[in-house]
Amino acid sequence: QEAEAAEYELDTTTLHMGTVVSAKLLGKTPEAVKRYAELVESEVKRYDDMMSVHKETPLNEVNRRAGEAVPVTPEIAEMSRMALKIADETGSAFEPMIGPLVNLWKIGFGGNEVPSDEAIKKAIELVDHRKVRVWEDKGQWFMQIGKGQNVDMGAIAKGYIGQKLAEKLVVAGATHGLLDLGGNVVAIGEKFPGQPWRIGLQSPDKERGSYFAVISAANESVITSGAYERNFEKNGRRYGHILSPVTGRPVTTDIASVTIVDSHGARADALCTALFAMGWDKAEAFLRAHPEVHAVLLKENLEDALVSEALRNKIQPYDSNLRMH
Ligand code: ADP
Ligand code: MG
Ligand code: MG
Repeated sequence: QEAEAAEYELDTTTLHMGTVVSAKLLGKTPEAVKRYAELVESEVKRYDDMMSVHKETPLNEVNRRAGEAVPVTPEIAEMSRMALKIADETGSAFEPMIGPLVNLWKIGFGGNEVPSDEAIKKAIELVDHRKVRVWEDKGQWFMQIGKGQNVDMGAIAKGYIGQKLAEKLVVAGATHGLLDLGGNVVAIGEKFPGQPWRIGLQSPDKERGSYFAVISAANESVITSGAYERNFEKNGRRYGHILSPVTGRPVTTDIASVTIVDSHGARADALCTALFAMGWDKAEAFLRAHPEVHAVLLKENLEDALVSEALRNKIQPYDSNLRMH
C-alpha cells in the first residue's frame, strides 16, 4: 500500500517572512490535504512570530537586549548553533552577526544610498560571530550577543523553517509534497512513486519561472541564492543584498547564482549565501574540500556552470548555451 499514489492535491499560498510561501500538498483524502495546508499556515506563522527581526519576536529580543543572557526557544538555539558553526567553516562568508551592516544599507527594505565610509567602518566593528554564546541551563536555552551587535538569520532561517515544516508534515502523515519559501524549496518524498520532484533553477536574467536547468529531488531541500532578487542601482552600479563582513559593502562576485541540494535545509541555505559571497574561485575550492556539499554554481556569463559530481545525473540543462563542468 506504500506505493499507492496520493490522489488529492491542494495548492496553497501564504505571505509571511516578507516572502511568498507556497505548498503543493498531496494526500489520500481531502481531509488529509486540508490538514496539511492548515499545518503549513500555522507553522509558518509560528516561526515568523518567533524569528522575524522586523517585529517583536523572541529572536529580536536577543538584539534588543544585546549584552545580556536572553532566554530563547530551542529552535532559535538550534538554528543559531548551526549558523555559528557554518560561519566558522566559511570564514564568515556566511556571517549571522551581519545585522549592523544590513540595517545600515537596508537593501531590499528601502535602502537606495551608499552609506558613508565612517558609518560602514563603525558597523564592521560590531560584526563578529565569535562574540556570541548559546547555551543550555536546566532545560532552558540562552543566547547572548555583544553590546551593539545585531543578529540577522535572514540567510539561514527560510532553509531551517522549510526543513522543520517538512518534518512536521511527515509526522502528520504527509508522504508527498513540495514547499517553496521564497525560492527555498523542500521536496517531501517523491511526486509519485518512482518519480522525483522536478525543481527549476531560475535564469538570473529572465522573468520569474524561466529556468536554465531542472533538478530532480526527493526528500531534500533545493536552495538558491542569486544577485537578481533584492538590490538597488546607483550610478550604474548594482548593489546586492549579500554583504561582506570584511569590506562592509555588498559582495562583488562573479557568480550569478548558487544552488545547493541537501537534506539539511538550514545548512543548504547558509552555504548558498556563503558560496555566492566567496566568488567562483573560492567557492570552487570550498566544494573541492567539501565533497558532501552538492552545488550548482552559475557563472556571471550565464554560460558556465559548475555541477557537483553527485548532481550530474539529477540535473537537466534547459539552456542550450550552458556548459556544465
Ligand atoms: P534570500 O534569503 O534573500 O534568498 P540569502 O539566503 O542569501 O537570500 O540571505 C540574504 C539575507 O541574509 C540578506 O537579506 C541579509 O538579511 C542577510 N545577509 C546579508 N549578507 C550576509 C552574509 N554575508 N552572511 C549572512 N547573512 C547575510
Ligand atoms: Mg541563504
Ligand atoms: Mg535564503
